[in-house]
Amino acid sequence: STPVATFCALLRAAQMGVLVKGGDILESLGEIRVAAFDKTGTITKGEFRVDGFHVVGAKVELGQLLYWVSSIESKSSHPMAAALVEYARSRSIQPQPKPENVTEFHIYPGEGVYGEMSGRHIYIGNTRIMARSSNHSVPEMDDQSGASVGYVICDGDLVGTFSLSDECRTGAAEAIRELRSMGIKSVMLTGDSRASATRAQEQLGGVLEELHADLLPEDKVRLVGELKSRSGPTLMVGDGMNDAPALAAADVGVAMGLHGSAAAMETSHATLMSGDVLRVPAAVALGRRARRTIA
Ligand code: ADP
Ligand code: MG
Repeated sequence: STPVATFCALLRAAQMGVLVKGGDILESLGEIRVAAFDKTGTITKGEFRVDGFHVVGAKVELGQLLYWVSSIESKSSHPMAAALVEYARSRSIQPQPKPENVTEFHIYPGEGVYGEMSGRHIYIGNTRIMARSSNHSVPEMDDQSGASVGYVICDGDLVGTFSLSDECRTGAAEAIRELRSMGIKSVMLTGDSRASATRAQEQLGGVLEELHADLLPEDKVRLVGELKSRSGPTLMVGDGMNDAPALAAADVGVAMGLHGSAAAMETSHATLMSGDVLRVPAAVALGRRARRTIA
């Protein structure tokens, strides 16, 4: 390709808020056949609202539970964590995430978090973290409304449940319809529950061709590989640090800028500076034009 034409195309992409890390990547964008989207923070705004928070059993009171949860979640950058911290604050409970309060902290990607407070071992997350930490098998409560259900385990006992919901980004459905009109198939890859994936699909008017839920970061990588061999050059759009390996595995990995994680931006081939997923089909169109110019 002529360096000048490539440079101009990269500049055009940047002007519309897509930072593409090189001319070869722009050309790859023009070849894409499949677009895989992470859900939380990519298709949805990543701004969760707590719909309900309930104590289970008599081991702990609500105030105490909210104090533990908000203090431990203060140490996480997951969008669900922010919602839980805010929920506690709105009930006048101030988190204390300092090392003397939260004496241990660990992140389980795709599952949740672990923290130790006053000698208590506390896990917060989905059914996976329950299986890891609970003495009992507790039936999965797949919320009918499509919210994401979470659990709090203290020293092996279920002590709380909560549900969270999130809204789709404006423009997400339009972007996916646009991609389809360009002959590109769109799929969702999410670590969240099937119920919440289905709810997002409904909000989008059913535009996604495949939904894959309950995925661990390595499952996303495997699915990107499968999509590549099944359907051709694959683009992956994601925001979280859990998405970084899948972004790297895709032919073109696109990170969500601003609210996305630094890890995702680093491993990606391109970054969407605004949260506007409508830029994805526009960037592919630029890539196609760039390829035509070269040919
Ligand atoms: P996604 O693929 O939708 O971005 P993640 O891989 O980040 O999802 O997380 C998958 C699931 O793990 C979440 O839907 C949630 O149930 C659970 N989870 C992850 N981090 C946390 C956290 N800090 N607090 C509670 N739950 C969490
Ligand atoms: Mg995400």
